[in-house]
Amino acid sequence: MPKAWTLAARPQGNPKPGDFALIDVDTGPLAPGQVRVANRWLSVDPYMRGRMNDVKSYVPPFAIGEPMQGGAVGEVVESADPAFAAGDMVLHMGGWRDEAVLPAAELQKLPALPIDPQAFLGQFGMPGMTAYWGLLDVAAAREGDTVFVSAAAGAVGSTVVQIAKAEGMTVIGSAGGADKCEWVRSLGADAVIDYKSCGSLPRALGAAAPGGIDVYFDNVGGDHLDAALAVARANARFAICGMIDVYNDGKATELRFLARLIGMRVRMQGFIVSDYMARGAEFYRDMGGWLAEGKLRREETVHDGLAAMPEAFMGLFTGGNTGKMLVRV
Ligand code: NDP
Repeated sequence: MPKAWTLAARPQGNPKPGDFALIDVDTGPLAPGQVRVANRWLSVDPYMRGRMNDVKSYVPPFAIGEPMQGGAVGEVVESADPAFAAGDMVLHMGGWRDEAVLPAAELQKLPALPIDPQAFLGQFGMPGMTAYWGLLDVAAAREGDTVFVSAAAGAVGSTVVQIAKAEGMTVIGSAGGADKCEWVRSLGADAVIDYKSCGSLPRALGAAAPGGIDVYFDNVGGDHLDAALAVARANARFAICGMIDVYNDGKATELRFLARLIGMRVRMQGFIVSDYMARGAEFYRDMGGWLAEGKLRREETVHDGLAAMPEAFMGLFTGGNTGKMLVRV
């Protein structure tokens, strides 16, 4: 019997194993237009934490007791739609389960790029698009800019580092721990800050960027955002992508340097990657080009088996991943 993870309870603070329950799902015979997919790779992403709260947001909350959704790559095993045949590899949102039955319209064949299928859940998927559009469109980062990116060893952050280097920018990344910092440096970052051991973050960032920063790509919020404000140069642009520091406890952080927005004419803009989905061709063109030029590298942290989904998800909030966090089914 196929299995799926449901939300058993809405997490209070940090998610814990008891918040999740694995159930049997009878997917039944296919109706016309439906496709059955055996999932091979499942994504866990920080935004899913927001869907676990019962609040109105840009995506609806997960329902208690219902299979959760998320990015997945799988192989078509049965099709009642002419657009798909057994053996096709597809990308879809029927994750958190080992088998998905979906309308054909909700499946996308994997783009023809010379990379592993699971890369379409990371650097060549939603997180990569987030990095690309957030850096180049929202922050309008250009050659010569000095860019600071937080959570630089994660899926989005590590891609920001590499796109920024490919485009001739100076890059400062922050990450937790010496090993992650070393990896970020190996991707080409000009300076890396271990935020867990650096002491004052504004001071460490000021030392890494003596002339200040033109762009901040925010994945963390809180102290990182405050430090970026402290060293922002005139007309700096902040792409506010994520604030993982507050996802679990919703705590308010004091932004001591917020008033610098005014004098430095900082532009701060939040964004949601789904607004850019129609522009996939531009993303694949540029990413495909950088890949061919050897300018993109990626790392994955892989948990094995559907049973590992909650553990992989919870690991996002304790720094358990370098690069993209994935579950192999
Ligand atoms: P990551 O691969 O970066 O994984 C999360 C990482 O965040 C962890 O590995 C950890 O790294 C770091 N982290 C966790 N808690 C904290 C904390 N309290 N303070 C500092 N760092 C912390 O995830 P993604 O690349 O998938 O996502 C990165 C960010 O982008 C998230 O905030 C996410 O919500 C956001 N996002 C936004 C989108 C949008 O459309 N706006 C789309 C996709 C992602 P470390 O060990 O270095 O601390």
